[in-house]
Amino acid sequence: MLTSIAGKSVIVTGASKGIGKGIASVFAKNGGKVFVVSRHLDEAEATAEEFRKAGGTAKGFAADITSMGDMQMLAEAAASAHGGIDILCANAGIFPQTKIEDLSPEDWDFVSSTNLKGTFLPIKACLPYLKKSDQGRIVITSSITGPVTGFPGWAHYGATKAGQLGFMRTACIEFAKYGITVNAVLPGNIKTEGLAALGPDYEKSMAASIPLNKLGTVEDIGYAALFLASKEAAYITGQTIIVDGGQILPESMDALAQA
Ligand code: NAP
Repeated sequence: MLTSIAGKSVIVTGASKGIGKGIASVFAKNGGKVFVVSRHLDEAEATAEEFRKAGGTAKGFAADITSMGDMQMLAEAAASAHGGIDILCANAGIFPQTKIEDLSPEDWDFVSSTNLKGTFLPIKACLPYLKKSDQGRIVITSSITGPVTGFPGWAHYGATKAGQLGFMRTACIEFAKYGITVNAVLPGNIKTEGLAALGPDYEKSMAASIPLNKLGTVEDIGYAALFLASKEAAYITGQTIIVDGGQILPESMDALAQA
């Protein structure tokens, strides 16, 4: 049993819904004091209220991960409310789907700004507080798309998700002297509101391509993040955990049919 999350101050960006909500709920259930971050205070606070009703400690906070000013306010608020910052889950991200032929420079900048700069800025803002923690942890939500696989319409998205890992591999070296670890979870297809917007056909065809034959849950990602944030994972840094039901493994479309 991982007991080392109890009492720790945790920030999860993009936690009002989807994977971030799953991550935040797992930390709240394990005794973390959780800051639930999204751009919309009502939604962040409604999620935090759900966690409080279930016996957890949580607070909603409105902030845009693309704004350094917002990230500094977030770090100050979390540190003052919960006595510091121990764990940052840089999770918020967007995945609009546009093929390269139709992709504009503006589309590219928008996705990069949210997914890449939006990983760097909360980390930079929280660093002074993470340095003071005896269990400083950063867990980035990347994806299988980009680092491992490709999918039409997600060239720009995949580039940002692979870029997060490039950032991580230097961050973990720079932060090692503070005892801060930096790792990433790479989800496959996870049942979220954002993914539901891609339509039932998408979900069905994805499930058929996954050896475990179903999409993952947001809590599946939460438990991987929880492990990486635990005291027990202190010697793991700069690493990735793929949580995808085996989706990246089949060598051909026929591989599952022949199993
Ligand atoms: P989602 O359901 O659309 O939720 C996204 C969350 O991020 C929301 O809370 C949203 O709240 C917040 N957000 C978006 N832009 C933001 C900004 N600029 N500043 C602050 N918060 C912002 O997405 P998801 O599917 O859970 O995806 C979360 C992460 O998992 C992303 O990094 C994504 O790349 C990754 N991922 C997802 C899947 C999947 O199958 N769903 C697979 C692989 C990787 P507001 O709109 O209120 O700000």
